[in-house]
Amino acid sequence: MINGRLRGTSLVVDLAALQHNIQEQKKALPANSRILAVVKANAYGNGLVPVANAALNGGASGLCVAILDEALALRDNGIAAMTLVLGITPVENAVIAANAGISLTVGSLDWLEQYHQLAQVIKPQKPLKVHLGVDSGMGRIGFTDIATFQQAVELLENPEFEFEGMFTHFATADSPDDAYFKRQVQQWQKYIDSIENLPPYVHMANSATGLWHQGVITANTIRMGISMYGQNPSGRDLKLTLDLQPVSSLVSSIVFVKKLKAGRSVSYGATYTAAKDEWLATLPIGYADGYPRCMTGFKVLVDGQFCDIAGRVCMDQMMVKLPKYYPVGTPVVLMGKSGDKEITANDLAEQAGTINYEILTNISNRVHRVYH
Ligand code: PLP
Repeated sequence: MINGRLRGTSLVVDLAALQHNIQEQKKALPANSRILAVVKANAYGNGLVPVANAALNGGASGLCVAILDEALALRDNGIAAMTLVLGITPVENAVIAANAGISLTVGSLDWLEQYHQLAQVIKPQKPLKVHLGVDSGMGRIGFTDIATFQQAVELLENPEFEFEGMFTHFATADSPDDAYFKRQVQQWQKYIDSIENLPPYVHMANSATGLWHQGVITANTIRMGISMYGQNPSGRDLKLTLDLQPVSSLVSSIVFVKKLKAGRSVSYGATYTAAKDEWLATLPIGYADGYPRCMTGFKVLVDGQFCDIAGRVCMDQMMVKLPKYYPVGTPVVLMGKSGDKEITANDLAEQAGTINYEILTNISNRVHRVYH
């Protein structure tokens, strides 16, 4: 993996904003509620380890990742906090999690039975911390009937297990229509009521639930993802209820500048032709950095002014029209603020026909991350 430190393009990550967002969410929750910081997918593109450390120092009690490899990377970097893998881990790898004190999501009785058998042979050093996933309507992973869930809870009494948590995940918590959300909450409540002793972590809320459904949170822990990064989970559908600050800015700089003569064309396909003489800058960033090719036709910010992208975004470079000459080295903002103007992750997402989550997580490893 090559980290492009020397090219003048970076993702600037504001860790103070991240901590502010955690505190904002905390203030809105009942006292003693816990926040698990969701740092999967390289902390939504912002960098796993620095974000995890900042989140833990900023009020999070634990971390959520998607896959066991991400959890192990946290351990390898000295992060010992409670870490939950949200996806399903192959049973044969679960002993690695047990020995590293990493918590796993389990969504079926079969899985538990297989681990129960395996543990008699392999003899893990520590009990495996388990969070039972309840599929209350997401349709992805988790228990779909209560009787099997109860059997799983019973099986967790075996010494190779520690029943640490149970959780569900909502499909429509970011939607103005809350009918489906309410049905999921009712389903979830049935699972809670079906067992005598709840585990230490009971969690149901993603960012959207923490923002728009605080009143219905029947859980002691929330999983804070996109809102921790200062983004609105609904895009623009619902208004934010917390003062969230954007954490990530994508900045580049001019590496080449020239006067483009009228009639000359720019980039692959020669889709842009200058109508008159104009200043044109080349930037060291392209779609291989996660700046989507379909941003062709969109804008960047130079010196507080919107500037049009000229021609197609290339793999590693792109061109923009300048209102006047700017020298090599001039900063260019692709996402973030410049003067009194801003390009948000939602603006980029709208142009790309996607969601702010995908804009952030697609920023590739080649882009150098800078923290402040
Ligand atoms: N919980 C689970 C199970 C998830 O899959 C995710 C993200 O996809 C989250 C929590 C965090 O969601 P959000 O970023 O919307 O807060």
